[in-house]
Amino acid sequence: MTTTYANLIDGEMVTTSNTFEVVNPANEEVVGLVPSCGKDELDRAVAAARRAFKTWKKTSAEERQKVVMGISAAIKENADELFRLLTTEQGKPHAQAQQEIYGAAGLAAAQSTLTLDDVINQDDDTRLSRTRRVPVGVVGGIVPWNFPVMMAIQKIVPALISGCTIVLKPSPFTPLTTLRIAELIKDVVPAGTVNIITGPDELGPMITEHPDIDKITFTGSTATGKKIMEGAAGDLKRITLELGGNDASIVLPDADVEAVAQQLFWSSFSNAGQICVAAKRIYIHEDIYDDLSKAIAEYAKTVVVGDGSQQGTGVGPIQNKKQFDRVCELIQDAKDNGYQFLTGGEVDPSGTGYYVPITILDNPPEDARIVAEEQFGPVMPLMKFGSVEEAIERANNSEYGLAGAVWTKDTDKGVEIAEQLETGTVWINEFLHISPLAPFGGHKQSGIGAEYGIDGLKEFTYAQVITVKRDAVV
Ligand code: NAD
Repeated sequence: MTTTYANLIDGEMVTTSNTFEVVNPANEEVVGLVPSCGKDELDRAVAAARRAFKTWKKTSAEERQKVVMGISAAIKENADELFRLLTTEQGKPHAQAQQEIYGAAGLAAAQSTLTLDDVINQDDDTRLSRTRRVPVGVVGGIVPWNFPVMMAIQKIVPALISGCTIVLKPSPFTPLTTLRIAELIKDVVPAGTVNIITGPDELGPMITEHPDIDKITFTGSTATGKKIMEGAAGDLKRITLELGGNDASIVLPDADVEAVAQQLFWSSFSNAGQICVAAKRIYIHEDIYDDLSKAIAEYAKTVVVGDGSQQGTGVGPIQNKKQFDRVCELIQDAKDNGYQFLTGGEVDPSGTGYYVPITILDNPPEDARIVAEEQFGPVMPLMKFGSVEEAIERANNSEYGLAGAVWTKDTDKGVEIAEQLETGTVWINEFLHISPLAPFGGHKQSGIGAEYGIDGLKEFTYAQVITVKRDAVV
């Protein structure tokens, strides 16, 4: 069934005469029609956000917290409907969609209590100097298709908590659940504080370059991140960029093969590998390489690839045709170069739905495209290493610096290795854990700035220092 969705502008659900289609990646059927906004709708949304900012910036921490808790409750109370819709548009299996929906509600609740308190720099007979954090104003939020709900909430919530208002653009591939949430929170958030508008990629630069938007918070590819930086340079907008990654896991020889095989598998194949911080290169010590690679490949054969709405599916389809074609191209390149496959590799391009079988490569060279590039699909290269120094050097040999992991019984050694990895996050003996209260961000071409925690909140504000000269004669 095709439902027509509306946008949230200035507290009202509004439609446009132009719409575009959203497709279920599991069967390529059209599942929703959404407004195709251009400059006029954007101008209206920004004007509403600007008006709302005048009063919202003066609200107390308690009032902001109440609104954010209302968002959290609206998501939680409607979680059943929302996770099913999320699977329909994004493709991820129901259990993973549930995690995202409850995760988004939990993130909102956890961040609702964050406050940016004043800092006293000097307090003596001569001077009182105080730093306060002032909300920057109207924020433009731009979101990708892999975790559409989580990414939307992680932009809306800190914007509201810090006293900003926001105009958010979901990915044109996955706007439906976000628009349903917009409807659910319409009367929870004061009119104009949260505006959600949909449109093609072309709407993105209009947001980036809009003269009445003060800051851009973007999650997406490094290529788009660079364009955003350029677009935002016109009026020196503040930017936070969460971009791509090519995250390495390093498995030391003391790791228990049976215990880590499944964990390594899911660190790479959750959400069909479409996670910025998924393990995309796994370096295994040569002493356990044969046993561990075999165990991972054997486990992979037990995981079902299919429609995420069906019970038993572990890995869903790729979210869209463009990404499906890219992943197929990387697999073909690996075949053309004669790299060895432990499992997978056979894609049926004529089938319905964007399915790629779980594909694991056996020790391809470091310069293979499938190793050097972010795959963003259910494809994982396993590589053998001899010394820890070599593993660290190979892990760091990337233009990206988002996250990484070390697997070892010796956690001190794990920390020692972590401190040498050039990434924003390193996990030891776990993966994909992101705390709502700790900064999350990338080094190198994985991004600029951070989201989450106090550091993330600060990016929605600027520092104002007020000094009072106490011994002045005036
Ligand atoms: P994308 O860059 O193609 O699109 C992201 C968003 O940007 C979409 O809403 C799109 O419409 C919009 N957009 C496209 N062109 C634009 C332009 N010129 N100006 C402004 N906006 C524009 O990314 P994607 O394919 O949706 O997402 C996948 C990428 O996102 C991967 O590289 C992944 O690693 C990255 N990602 C990073 C994080 C992180 O936190 N670091 C999290 C999730 C995804």
